Amino acid sequence: MRKALVIGNWKMNGRLAANEALLNGLSSGAECLSDDVEVAVCPPSVYIAQAASLLQKSSIGVGAQNIATQASGAFTGEVSAEMLTDFGCEWVIAGHSERRSLYGESDQDVALKVAKAVESGIVPVICVGETLEEREAGQALARVRSQLEAALAQLEGDQLASIVVAYEPVWAIGTGLTATPDQAQEVHQVLRQALNECQVDLGDKVRILYGGSVNAANADSLFAQPDIDGGLIGGASLKVDDFLAICRAAA
Ligand code: PEP
Repeated sequence: MRKALVIGNWKMNGRLAANEALLNGLSSGAECLSDDVEVAVCPPSVYIAQAASLLQKSSIGVGAQNIATQASGAFTGEVSAEMLTDFGCEWVIAGHSERRSLYGESDQDVALKVAKAVESGIVPVICVGETLEEREAGQALARVRSQLEAALAQLEGDQLASIVVAYEPVWAIGTGLTATPDQAQEVHQVLRQALNECQVDLGDKVRILYGGSVNAANADSLFAQPDIDGGLIGGASLKVDDFLAICRAAA
């Protein structure tokens, strides 16, 4: 049985004071959340220590939005896996469409980040998703399959089960457009099948999240789909009440 999972992606948002209010609100709200849902937030890297400290007594975990493929050295601007684990990071987002489109991250870069995370004991949340053009051309399923297969290329054996996948249609991220539950379910089913083809029963073990303009109003119907195990939440993760409502919908 896969436990529901909700992860907040703060993107490049937040300041010390605003984060404090958000994190304290989440920490007290988490006391009323069911044990059936696992929750984490991924703030910008400079605020990871603040989040880890203010969430210390809560069940909410902390993750990062990016990870270096190298261990240490002359890589200006990068943050290594060991630096993330020093501050209690258990998760890292890999292959987010903003990293792919704005910072030129290739499928191969994503595979290296995924491997670095797994070997460091950090769970990579591997994002895949098609553009609107690809969907309209009937290429959505092939696109997400190929992104997933490429992201797993460096993993072997038990490592393969140490991941989370997030289906995030590019056209739904931050746009207010959400895939319908049926559209999302169709893709999730294909991703689960691809995982099972990669390794026997892998699809039964790995959680597949949906992301793309999830909010308190649409979360219930998305999470009711059999192959949607929770959500990767952008904008709505910055509001205490909305994020907690989404967490409750996943439980
Ligand atoms: C995201 O950035 O991963 C995301 C899903 O954003 P939003 O929920 O704002 O669409």
